Amino acid sequence: MPLNLIMLGPPGAGKGTQAEHIARTHAIPKISTGDILREAVQNGTPVGRLAKGIMERGDFVPDDVMIGIVRERLDQRDAQAGFVLDGFPRTVAQAAALDNIVSARGPLIVIEIVVPEAELVRRMTTRLVCEGCGTTIGPGETSCGRCGGRLVQRSDDNEPVIRERLKVYHERTRPLVEYYQLRPTFRSVNGSQPPDRVSADLLAAIESSWDGAAPKGAHR
Ligand code: AMP
Repeated sequence: MPLNLIMLGPPGAGKGTQAEHIARTHAIPKISTGDILREAVQNGTPVGRLAKGIMERGDFVPDDVMIGIVRERLDQRDAQAGFVLDGFPRTVAQAAALDNIVSARGPLIVIEIVVPEAELVRRMTTRLVCEGCGTTIGPGETSCGRCGGRLVQRSDDNEPVIRERLKVYHERTRPLVEYYQLRPTFRSVNGSQPPDRVSADLLAAIESSWDGAAPKGAHR
């Protein structure tokens, strides 16, 4: 059975770091809409030109654009055996579209990462990304493991924009917890722990969610 996974949670909760880990251990693609948009901005594509200002003020790129990007990405061959989405869905309209896209592909596993707000602000104001490839540098790391590029702060990781992103999260993304939480495949994990503890809890949550979702006697 494919692992179709989404990571819910506020900016700074560690979704990207954890999604990266799961993608590696389960050999499935990590699909980060933030990464896709940052790359589009860097390349100056039409989507990038549309998204640049929106991202700089901490707002959301329109649903139809985001749904189009994700639909196209999930159609690619490597995503047929499963995927981990990071940063999508962020609105109820995106969640409904995703249900449609994956309806024929087996259950969607939804993991919420919970972190208190003060901790989120502290993490985002101190985190670094690689200037070369955009990878977020994990806590304790001093260089980019992927390309060795220079480490910089993300242009939207400054306090006023962080506050705006958290506000938009509460207004538009937090309702997704209610959207998903009654499903048997929904789990929450405590994201305030050290990253390897979060990873361990996350793997356990995926296992239990997966077992709950699988028809009796099914093989993975
Ligand atoms: P992230 O790297 O996930 O924090 O995303 C960075 C920025 O990209 C967000 O603050 C939004 O402006 C934009 N973005 C990423 N994913 C989405 C999405 N699913 N819907 C709307 N905007 C998005």
